[in-house]
Amino acid sequence: MLDLDRFKQVNDTLGHAAGDALIRDFGSRISDLVQPDATVARLGGDEFVVLLPDVQSKQAVENICHKILSAAHRPFAVLGSEAFVGVSIGVVFSPESSTDRMELMRKADIALYHAKAAGRDCFRAFAPGMDESIKFRRRIEEDLRRALASGDELRVHYQPLVGAAGEPIVGVEALVRWQHPRRGLISPESFIPIAEETGLISQLGEWILVEACSAAKRWPQLFVAVNLSPAQFRMPKFAERVIEIVCEAGVDPGQIELEVTETVLLHDDEAITVALNKLRDAGFKIALDDFGTGYSSLSHLRKFEVDKIKIDRTFVQNLGTTDSTAIVTAVVNLAHAMGLQVSAEGVETKHQSTFLTAAGCNVMQGFLFSKAVPHDEMEALLSIERDKKQAA
Ligand SMILES: [Mg+2]
Repeated sequence: MLDLDRFKQVNDTLGHAAGDALIRDFGSRISDLVQPDATVARLGGDEFVVLLPDVQSKQAVENICHKILSAAHRPFAVLGSEAFVGVSIGVVFSPESSTDRMELMRKADIALYHAKAAGRDCFRAFAPGMDESIKFRRRIEEDLRRALASGDELRVHYQPLVGAAGEPIVGVEALVRWQHPRRGLISPESFIPIAEETGLISQLGEWILVEACSAAKRWPQLFVAVNLSPAQFRMPKFAERVIEIVCEAGVDPGQIELEVTETVLLHDDEAITVALNKLRDAGFKIALDDFGTGYSSLSHLRKFEVDKIKIDRTFVQNLGTTDSTAIVTAVVNLAHAMGLQVSAEGVETKHQSTFLTAAGCNVMQGFLFSKAVPHDEMEALLSIERDKKQAA
């Protein structure tokens, strides 16, 4: 079972006629790849099914999957433009799994779901156990829908960001927490991907932003950092919604720092560039989160104007090893040469903080200073700081 990646963008940006042309072209590309006795069918939308009879080995199927993946990668010439898509593939082997038609389709669909969850643009073969994780995800999705509707189980915690060289708290990062009535605290790493796949991220993201705005009003001396998911950028009118929410709250966009990961910049997507520029023009600061973990490219830094780089925690934790020390020093120097600020995440020891300060890091964040805390505790931290300042 095949599902095109980023097909919706083709329809949205080039129009449905272009989308239809791409579907036809893709159909004939896969037909050319398979033996004459294979069946290639379009289920609807951008979903296809390929049925391969008399397969000699699993290896043979994998080879065909690789060929289909690269066929999808070649640009599609549609209505005078070039469109780029990818494809996710779910594979099921019969009679190993089942000989029942519906059961085969269901399992191929589950494998496809796993291919998408693995980052798309790849294939996955059905394995027992995939069934269970799907059920878990469906339950989490339903519960998250309910939590968003009631607003009772979700909270925003704030992690202080401190200036280097022993300066006080200069900002906070707003981080969502979900206290599930039966499962307890669910980490964002488990539910954010589900929110992204189901589109709930858009509602969740807006909810966090509204909370972050009220924090910004309570603490006018601090900047408030908010994480944005790549999935949010794909929503129509995304930048406009962000600007609207912040302005309605009466907050200066200059007080809000939007953290985006490198994957946002990866697809070289026109819509994302436009959205980022709109946000910057409106006065928001943009920080590149988890820097160094993804497909870091220095050209991204030049092409997409950002204000700050956040060095990923893995480099901070490995400070002392030659590589990490060299990388951190180089990144700080490079960023400063480009006029960008640098912050470091995951600072846990005095030693790390001393090194980062000496290297010229502007802002630090980590357990050495504080974990993410509820609003009241954050308030307490700020009042301790005020007292200290008055005493001095
Ligand atoms: Mg972040």
